[in-house]
Amino acid sequence: MRNHYDVVIVGGGVQGLSLAYNLARSGLLRVAVLEKSYIGSGASGRNGEMIRSAFASLEWIRLFDHSIQIWETLSDELDFNVMFTRCGYLVLATKADEMKAYGTYAKLQEEFGLKTFLLDRDEVVKRIPALNPEMVAGGIYQPDGGFARHDAVVWAYARAARRLSVEIFPHTEVIGIRVKSGSITGVNTTKGDIETQTVVNAAGAHAGWVAQMAGLTLPTQTCRLEMLATEPLKPFLSMALASPYSLSYMHQSTRGEFIGGAEIENLPASNSLRSSRRAVQDMAQKFTLLFPGLCGARLMRQWAGVVGMAADMSPLLGPVDGVEGFILDCGWVYGFMGAPAGGKLMAELILTGETPKHIRPFNLNRFKTGKLIVDPSLTVSTGSIEKNEKNRR
Ligand SMILES: Cc1cc2nc3c(=O)[nH]c(=O)nc-3n(C[C@H](O)[C@H](O)[C@H](O)COP(=O)(O)OP(=O)(O)OC[C@H]3O[C@@H](n4cnc5c(N)ncnc54)[C@H](O)[C@@H]3O)c2cc1C
Repeated sequence: MRNHYDVVIVGGGVQGLSLAYNLARSGLLRVAVLEKSYIGSGASGRNGEMIRSAFASLEWIRLFDHSIQIWETLSDELDFNVMFTRCGYLVLATKADEMKAYGTYAKLQEEFGLKTFLLDRDEVVKRIPALNPEMVAGGIYQPDGGFARHDAVVWAYARAARRLSVEIFPHTEVIGIRVKSGSITGVNTTKGDIETQTVVNAAGAHAGWVAQMAGLTLPTQTCRLEMLATEPLKPFLSMALASPYSLSYMHQSTRGEFIGGAEIENLPASNSLRSSRRAVQDMAQKFTLLFPGLCGARLMRQWAGVVGMAADMSPLLGPVDGVEGFILDCGWVYGFMGAPAGGKLMAELILTGETPKHIRPFNLNRFKTGKLIVDPSLTVSTGSIEKNEKNRR
């Protein structure tokens, strides 16, 4: 490890690695990624792998649509097959009032220029006959959405970054951030100290603690999510599917495994990576209600992951007031799908000092100005948003 880098990125998840790759691609030579465990050990190696840009707020649509355009050619760009499967993404409505809201979202998406379709109940059931028709009121379908392999994406970015001479240090924890006269001067790690003028906080669920090292308090809290994979089954789900009503999301892998996750309403905040019986019961109930044919399917794996959520569920991106050189790239709840755009735009910000318009609204300052970005189409409980907001106050 050198004793000086131009940029030090804290966190070897998909966001930190995408940023490192994009910085190096634009010619910045001395970039270090410090990861306290193994590469991709955080949420980036544990997520549901789903990708869309059909959201319900202009800010989210603009950012994630930029990402979807990069996903299209990402395997070629990184020279590594990330197994992006453009099979389409359906946001399912179960209740009539959800459909009413979806009409508004679809209109906004159309105005932006997204290719999405508002489907009625019959059209959804025709496309996915395995769905329980009682759980279907309609949905928004985005043909350009889909899923990719999360471990492949992490390794693709890591390898591409290394080829461009980024230095990645697994098992190297940042334990201190040095600030002098309001500016970053370096970091302390378990493997020695580094001088730098720029530190990026891409520490996922741990971003709050990393910010504290620089004397900042972030409006974030950890949220624990669980997932499962079944034995391989005959193809029955031809697209990625999110059900905000049941707070669940799922797809069927190319090997046939049904892979899905769900959020339990009002679960206390926790950092634990232990999977639980309560979650597997909740997921089994939700998935068999949506797909009765899953009854009796054997469970192969179950796992947990944590994300660091901002109070409004939107990412925290960009510089902060009061600590020159400390840059946030955290608070990502949908940070897997957002990584191609996140890394590219954050690199632009660092290299030019100008904040690209896609990420400008996501600055931490929104919590001072009150311009919070709450996207109502996320598959997260509104209870969580309200609880976060209450904790923040
Ligand atoms: C179960 C689950 C399902 C999900 N499903 C989806 C989905 O379908 N689609 C989607 O887009 N998103 C999904 N997400 C969210 C997505 O995984 C995250 O938003 C994304 O991975 C965030 O990436 P990151 O690089 O910011 O964080 P992480 O991948 O968590 O990486 C942060 C890294 O920082 C390291 N770190 C922390 N502190 C320090 C320190 N002091 N020093 C050095 N290193 C440190 C950690 O070890 C970690 O590896 C899901 C998340 C979970 C948990």
